[in-house]
Amino acid sequence: MQQQEQQAIGALQSLDASHHLHPFTDTLQLAGRGTRIISHADGVYVWDIHGNKLLDAMAGLWCVNVGYGRDSIADAVAAQLKTLPFYNNFFQCTHEPAIRLAAKIASLAPVHMNRVFFTGSGSEANDTNLRMVRRYWDLKGKPGKKTIISRKNAYHGSTVAGASLGGMGFMHQQGDLPIPGIVHIDQPYWFAEGRELSAQDFGIKAARALEAKILELGEDKVAAFIAEPFQGAGGVIIPPDSYWDEIKRILSKYDILFILDEVISGFGRTGNWFAATTYNLTPDLITIAKGMTSGYIPMGGVIVSDRVADVLVNEGGEFAHGFTYSGHPAAAAAALENIRILEEERLVDKVREDTGPYLQARLRELCEHPLVGEVRGLGMVGAIELVADKDSGARLPADMGAGMLCREACIEVGLVMRAVGDTMIISPPLCISRAEIDELILKASQALSLTFAKIAAR
Ligand code: PMP
Repeated sequence: MQQQEQQAIGALQSLDASHHLHPFTDTLQLAGRGTRIISHADGVYVWDIHGNKLLDAMAGLWCVNVGYGRDSIADAVAAQLKTLPFYNNFFQCTHEPAIRLAAKIASLAPVHMNRVFFTGSGSEANDTNLRMVRRYWDLKGKPGKKTIISRKNAYHGSTVAGASLGGMGFMHQQGDLPIPGIVHIDQPYWFAEGRELSAQDFGIKAARALEAKILELGEDKVAAFIAEPFQGAGGVIIPPDSYWDEIKRILSKYDILFILDEVISGFGRTGNWFAATTYNLTPDLITIAKGMTSGYIPMGGVIVSDRVADVLVNEGGEFAHGFTYSGHPAAAAAALENIRILEEERLVDKVREDTGPYLQARLRELCEHPLVGEVRGLGMVGAIELVADKDSGARLPADMGAGMLCREACIEVGLVMRAVGDTMIISPPLCISRAEIDELILKASQALSLTFAKIAAR
């Protein structure tokens, strides 16, 4: 690379360090290291400004479901921007992209869910959920039902309500969260917290924490239970099979609403349009974002069941909630084209029948590696637990930062994986081919060996 180009990149990095506050980032540390500037992308690959090509096994931030470089989405957005760049959905108005998208999503959602409330992000959608479930119970004449039960180590967003609904202790520590009326039960993380029991027994135990909490608070105080089908940001935590069956039993026994946060799992990641189908769940509200537009334009929303919608619509009058960009026309156009691609290329079926099982089988080969204690996943998500001792699952010393070492090793070999502590996670674009999965696994195994060598050298 020419000296001039190097200088231009250095200048960009220094502008970034001076002016750009990054999300979930230690800015001081970042300024010392310098940011990696991503310049372009195509298919399942991204390139940094130095020309390094990386296989993006995280689909951006779990969102680029149809892969990068889809001109037809860019064209649909451009056409919409030229026709009607913005109009709101307030005051008796709407526009065609929002109408068509709501109807399309209703057609893909579980049969008992037929309406959509649009937001700009997953966090806003979970804020909407909080307001919607409380409104529902007010209208039902049960204003005491206010508390929402969530789980430790859940992720539901970064707004005040989103971070409160989430169960991330390090987020709660900043800014006196959670807000009142939100409580957290233990998570179904067998590998980290339940190995003294069989996975199935632990799954039942973790689910019964919900029943215990409902009884402790009183059913008449509980508005809803919120959960991700599998915890994404928490470390791709797939509950034992027994977990959701037991949760279903509990939810059917008590009169509380069920919010399923499908911001990551929605739009095909588990091999069905929604993980509600994969796990045979009947949520009252589904949170969506990310794969809805494959991240080409920001958008989120809540899919609302007939049970909730009938009360809000028929008995509620005005629901005093909404965002300027609820159902933004360009975002809706992106979502419609994104869904069209998912359908035309049968990407959801492929994940269920072909590439998902193939990824899962190949991923499990990494279990052989001396650094790996467990591999788990379903569809197009997976996790690799890095451990000191394969048999006991004992962790490496925290100050070793094995997860971060592995993430850096991934970059060295041309792969993007994310580290959550010492859990390496992946969530590749749904369009990934078998050959690209082979490349992912090869690079992951190279990165594991590099990490192993680095740890041994210490
Ligand atoms: N819920 C879940 C399950 C998520 O994974 C995320 C984002 N990672 C959110 C909510 C928040 O979405 P957003 O970042 O679009 O606000």
